[in-house]
Amino acid sequence: MRSAYLPSAIRKLVNELSKLPSVGEKTAFRLAQHLLSRDPMDIIELEQALKNARERVRFCERCFAYSEQELCPICEDHQRDDSLLCVVEKPVDVVALEQIGGFTGRYHVLHGLWSPMRGVSPDKIKLPDLLQRVEKSHSSDNASVTELVLATGTTVEGDATAFYIAKHLSHLPAKVTRIAQGLPKGGELEYADESTLRYALEGRKDIDVRE
Ligand SMILES: [Zn+2]
Repeated sequence: MRSAYLPSAIRKLVNELSKLPSVGEKTAFRLAQHLLSRDPMDIIELEQALKNARERVRFCERCFAYSEQELCPICEDHQRDDSLLCVVEKPVDVVALEQIGGFTGRYHVLHGLWSPMRGVSPDKIKLPDLLQRVEKSHSSDNASVTELVLATGTTVEGDATAFYIAKHLSHLPAKVTRIAQGLPKGGELEYADESTLRYALEGRKDIDVRE
């Protein structure tokens, strides 16, 4: 886009907006145009919301989902089933699964997937934390995790990560299942529609880790 004729303040805004995921320069310009047409109070509220979120939101110390406290509302919820643990790649995947409803267990967010090709080793993501969390549940008097639902998407890395987890926990008396049914190959959870995701969760299957 030839934008030299635009006021520099607009160019700066378009430049910042186009850094957002899936936002090209044209979309950034449309968003900028929309923002400039809004009431100044709306912009102040947007600015405040961004600032608050950046300052207050951190990751839950147990499951690594978004939280404003040490523990997130799901980890704090005593009604949830401690024996059922769903493993996902990103915080947004928790949102997708919570939106379809029906899952009563707890979560663990990996913040990435194991990918030797991209140089992502297990310790660069929250994989050791997961293994420790499940092991610990089996060694303490607290309720232990009896089923791990691996909901890491159907990409090559999602499959590899699921297999890694299943393999490293195969010595424990916990069932390890994988959601996949209905999700297209290479599919990420956040892009799946609600009914596909519900079907994938209900149709989860055991992972075979035999050589
Ligand atoms: Zn949590």
